[in-house]
Amino acid sequence: TERVFELRKDLDIRINGKDLVNPVTSFGHYGFDNLLIQSIQKQGYESPTSIQKQAVPIALSGRDLIAIAKTGSGKTASFIWPAIPHIMDQPYLEKGDGPIALFVAPTRELAHQIYLETQKFAKPYKIRTSVIYGGVTKLLQCRELKAGCEILVTTPGRLIDMIKLKATKMNRVTYLVLDEADRMFDMGFGPQVQSIVGQIRPDRQTLLFSATFPPNIEELARNILIDPIRISIGNTG
Ligand code: ADP
Ligand code: MG
Repeated sequence: TERVFELRKDLDIRINGKDLVNPVTSFGHYGFDNLLIQSIQKQGYESPTSIQKQAVPIALSGRDLIAIAKTGSGKTASFIWPAIPHIMDQPYLEKGDGPIALFVAPTRELAHQIYLETQKFAKPYKIRTSVIYGGVTKLLQCRELKAGCEILVTTPGRLIDMIKLKATKMNRVTYLVLDEADRMFDMGFGPQVQSIVGQIRPDRQTLLFSATFPPNIEELARNILIDPIRISIGNTG
């Protein structure tokens, strides 16, 4: 496939992909409504981080994305913020239906952190966020999932358990995020991640976040993303 390559040597930003999407350098230019802008202001953030400038407009455009940037660069918000308009644009669906946005993360701690961060932005919209991971009784999590949510944050293993128990369906998921993809592979979750992705509709939007981009993640990306734009910030190997 044809590829356009843009090099921003000055900022150490590399962007690959067809039909690139322009970066946005101010929160006011994302096109977010007031509820979201207010929540962002509440955090005290002055301007988007480098990865947020590049990744958010791509995610908002509906394109698949590979975002590689080191820990602490603000990747979490890069996938949470665009999920909000994505969900608000969906037609009303009944309580009890499965999630629209699915955030997959390698560890309980990270899943919980992402959940807390998501709540800050989703709650004002009454978007329901749930989190599931190992170490908590499955019964409680089954009950929560059956009550319904629009965003589900999960570790790979526990989601597979919950699908097997028919506690949730994946048919509504159109916004899939794999966070810390390199760590998920290092921890041996590759097969579980593949299995989860295989159960999600092919017309989804897929966003992959990683601190590094080793060959196994590159291969995963080739298999599960369509015409992605790849952003890489800093020396990530
Ligand atoms: P990463 O996932 O890339 O490791 P995080 O999303 O966890 O990074 O963000 C790291 C820290 O930066 C968090 O404390 C977060 O609240 C903060 N942060 C995120 N976006 C901004 C911003 N635009 N301005 C200032 N701080 C931010
Ligand atoms: Mg992160």
